[in-house]
Amino acid sequence: MNQLQAADAIRLKQYMQKAVDRSKYFIGYPISQDFDYRELYPLLGLPLNNVGDPQVESTYDLNSRSIEREVVDFFTELFNAPVKNSWGYVTNGGSEGNLYGLYVARELYPNAVVYYSEATHYSVQKNIHLLNMPSIVIRCQSNGEMDYEDLNQVMQLHRHQPAIIIANIGTTMMEAKDSVPAIKAILHNCAIKNHYIHCDGALAGTYLALLDDANDFDFSHGADSIAISGHKFIGSPIPCGVVIVKKNYRDRIGKTIPYIGTIDTTITGSRNGHSPVFLWHAIKRMGREGLKQRAINSLAMAEYAVQQLNSIGCNAWKNENAITVVFSAPSKEFCQKWQLATEGDWTHMICMPGITKEKVDEFLNDLMEESRLKTAMAEA
Ligand SMILES: *Cc1c(COP(=O)(O)O)cnc(C)c1O
Repeated sequence: MNQLQAADAIRLKQYMQKAVDRSKYFIGYPISQDFDYRELYPLLGLPLNNVGDPQVESTYDLNSRSIEREVVDFFTELFNAPVKNSWGYVTNGGSEGNLYGLYVARELYPNAVVYYSEATHYSVQKNIHLLNMPSIVIRCQSNGEMDYEDLNQVMQLHRHQPAIIIANIGTTMMEAKDSVPAIKAILHNCAIKNHYIHCDGALAGTYLALLDDANDFDFSHGADSIAISGHKFIGSPIPCGVVIVKKNYRDRIGKTIPYIGTIDTTITGSRNGHSPVFLWHAIKRMGREGLKQRAINSLAMAEYAVQQLNSIGCNAWKNENAITVVFSAPSKEFCQKWQLATEGDWTHMICMPGITKEKVDEFLNDLMEESRLKTAMAEA
């Protein structure tokens, strides 16, 4: 095979060095970096493809379906999905899982109104647009959680229509959790029998389900579908996710496709065959207990970060059971350096697994340096 030309080899080397450098200042997005999948390296030489339904074997046998099923089984159990009536697959990420949940919900209730809070991830609005569904945005409380009074009032006006509700299990900016029990109480109050609750657990769904007392959103609490991102809490070099739905809902979707010799029940055609193996590797290596400890460590790190930020006079807080620390946004340059997303006056740092105390301290020192500079400049 041809080698890269010298100039291209240099270009590649520079890019690769830049990626490594930028990974050192990465505290603003909910992405774990502490993975090691080198054992799986030989698989990068194979064109794995899980096209079609993971439960139905395909003529395209160079796949990781059997591994994918074990990953789905792990989440089915984690989210207390009905054993005989659940189904799922490994997606390209939380956004696709949200699209799938909404798609299934629309097939079930074509005349429904979708309700979602203003703090909801942008993928939901886009997916609603793609699916051409009527929707209403609900106000938020100041901590980013849905305003249930607003939901109740708006729903009262639409009692004659089925309701599809997106419950955020950790909003993107403040990691607020919408309460599935509160939403169910409102549905009951409005006497809306035809309803569907999709939980967007992309950010926090996995670890909240692992903790004792933090899970009021799974199938046993009334969820009809749950989407998570695999590259966030678990960690993966390739974005991925998992969606779990009730099987009788999925049955409304798939068509048998002779060309692939399986059922086309997913959103995309070709599907990543490598990402299920990454997730499987992490789940097997850490186990449920290991993953739970990982969550507990992140929560402790977030507590530490709040205390330290407050101790240097930075206005910082976090929601209950959250690993996202919200604080007043520093300068644009600082946010760029540390890859901090901002919204209005707020920004956040996220204590994902792999964010060590040393990393938090380095971040804090840098922030103190920045505020010293700012004060000095203001005085000059
Ligand atoms: C990250 C995120 C998503 C989107 O997930 P992707 O894996 O990036 O597609 C959706 N909702 C929430 C709350 C998120 O944090």
